[in-house]
Amino acid sequence: MKYAISPAEVTSLAVAGSEERFPVNRIFCVGRNYAAHAREMGKDPDRDPPFFFMKPSDAAVDASQPVTIPYPSQTTNFHHEIELVVAIGKGGSNIPVDSAEEHVWGYAVGLDMTRRDLQLEARDKGRPWEFGKSFALSAPIGALHRAADVSSPTKAAIALTVNGEARQSSDVEKLIWSVSECIAHLSQYEVLKPGDLIMTGTPEGVNAVRRGDVMRGSVQGLGEIFVTVAA
Ligand code: MN
Repeated sequence: MKYAISPAEVTSLAVAGSEERFPVNRIFCVGRNYAAHAREMGKDPDRDPPFFFMKPSDAAVDASQPVTIPYPSQTTNFHHEIELVVAIGKGGSNIPVDSAEEHVWGYAVGLDMTRRDLQLEARDKGRPWEFGKSFALSAPIGALHRAADVSSPTKAAIALTVNGEARQSSDVEKLIWSVSECIAHLSQYEVLKPGDLIMTGTPEGVNAVRRGDVMRGSVQGLGEIFVTVAA
């Protein structure tokens, strides 16, 4: 194989307790998957089917160690969204809810960083969310914990502080659509592949960060991440 230009680097994440890296394929994100967050975004929470948007693989940032991300261009309202991240190890399509967990390789805590001003402008104009959501380095993610090593996070505190002040605090048991339901639904539309990530949505309390702010995010059982916004 001789490429016409050098291929892009593979983005990878750390694996807890291992030298191995997890190569990131696609990043699927679930929208409005906690009722209180749907309400704060001005929408009625409901059991409409889950909806998804995507981030490019180079959105992923290894946050297994404290890490700094840039303040992105073209925004003045850069928001944090703390989320449970699911890594797919076994692909498939039309995956039944009952066997969805067999496709999970591991779990991590991550941030769906959002240019909220651009997202809301796009939403209100009926345009795609891309510039608000899908940009490089917008998804710092902690070390992945193998599903075999942790109990599946069906009830686990999820929290984010900024400069030590509480911003988001909830429990993943409040997900409107569970991890298994998200996998089942998504796999009806796309053939899931090993290396795909699913960011499962954020609880209420999303808000802006400023240059120099330090975010500390955690999901019980999956450790914590420290992410600084570059000064
Ligand atoms: Mn999100």
